[in-house]
Order: sequence, then structure tokens, then C-alpha cells
Amino acid sequence: MTERTDKDTTPDESASMVQSGAVVLLIEDEPAMQRLLEIVLEEQGYRVVLAGTGKQGIVHAATRNPDLVLLDLGLPDMEGEDVIRRLREWWARPIVVISARGREEEKVKVLDAGADDYVTKPFDVREMLARIRVALRHSGAQSGQSGAIIESGPVRLDGVLRRVSVEGREIRMTPTEYRLLALLLKNADRVLTHSQILREVWGAAYVGQVSILRVTMANLRKKLEKDPSRPLHLVNEPGIGYRFCTGGEDPLP
Ligand code: CA
Repeated sequence: MTERTDKDTTPDESASMVQSGAVVLLIEDEPAMQRLLEIVLEEQGYRVVLAGTGKQGIVHAATRNPDLVLLDLGLPDMEGEDVIRRLREWWARPIVVISARGREEEKVKVLDAGADDYVTKPFDVREMLARIRVALRHSGAQSGQSGAIIESGPVRLDGVLRRVSVEGREIRMTPTEYRLLALLLKNADRVLTHSQILREVWGAAYVGQVSILRVTMANLRKKLEKDPSRPLHLVNEPGIGYRFCTGGEDPLP
């Protein structure tokens, strides 16, 4: 993908020590969960700042200069969505949410409020670390993003010539399919909600018209996926939206 400009990273890290030294602000009220996450994160080379309430988390975000917020939604004093909205008034770095399983509506709300991604409780530690790396990578890449060429998994998109190829084979697309794919690729391995996609690709008036998105996604899958009924890259996040998965075991290229 693009060269990163984040001073904490080098361009070709691939293993577990990605973003080492990055500061993670963990907002979580349960001591056992705090301790577990702190151990796991420190083992990966992150520095951890703890907050036990939403209010304390917001103060720490302002004073401790974290690179990423890891936010548990079950907090005693504030709704997770409100913590995110408050942070997003002035704070632009990634927010990854820890959410209880099966609360799709809540996940959509927090993503639309400005969270970058989520992991579901009880969660797989490897998945959580991968989500954190993806969020930090996107945050570091933003300033240097030229948008000319995006390569992700087998897909290559040339933003200047507006051409797409899969494993070297050129694919014809409608302008809408192209815009949808470009958006997903720019956010590779991150989830995007239906509303976010509809607003970006079709415009604000189309938010809520998920069926239009489904039809275009089905067409895109026919063009890009080996088996469109079991997509490996254009992956559905049930009740939430879609994620372009770059593939492999680790969702990083
Ligand atoms: Ca909690």
C-alpha cells in the first residue's frame, strides 16, 4: 500500500512488533479485563495508559497523548457512543471498540459516531491485535496517501487511470462499482457501515437504502471473487456493513 509517515514505524514491518512504542489508552472498568489487556498489549511493545471510566478516558486522551484508544463499551459512567462523540470533537486518532457479542445496533452506532473498528467479546487476542495494527497503520498512512495506486490482496486499483485488475487481469467496472471498490480498498481490513458506504459512494440522500448497496456489492463480487457466493475479500459484516479483507491468516498484507 502506501508508505507510512508515522515516525514510530518503518515501511516493512510485518511481525508482531508493529508500531512498537505506540501508546494505547485503554478505557475499561473491569480490573481483570484491564490486567489481561495490559499484559497482552505490553507484550507486543505497546505502552498502556489505563482509564476506568469514560470521563477519565477523555481526560487521559487530552493529557497523555495516546496513539490509539481501545474502548470497552460497558462503562459505569457514560455510553460508549458518547465517549466517542466527545473524543471526535477534537481527537483524530484511531478508536477501536470492544463490544459485547450480538449487539449489532450498538456497533453500527459507535462506528457511525467515529470509531474505526471493533472486536467482539469474548474476543480472540490475535484478532484484537490485528485490528489495532490496521487502525494504527491507516492513521499513520493518512498524511502520505497519494491515492494513485492501491494494491490489496490480488486487487490492484490505479486511481489515475481508473483501472482495476485482479491478478494482472483487467476488470471492467461501472463508475459506481469503481467508487465502491476504491472506498473499500482505501479502508482495507477496516469495517465500514452501510451508512458510511452509502454516504460516500451514492451521497447523503441514499443513506438507509441498503438494497442499492447490496446489488452493487453482488456485481462487484462476481467480478472480483473466485466464488462470489463465498467471498474472501468483499466480506459481509452481518447487520453492520462490509470489510475488504486483504486475505491470509493475519488481516495485514
Ligand atoms: Ca466493562
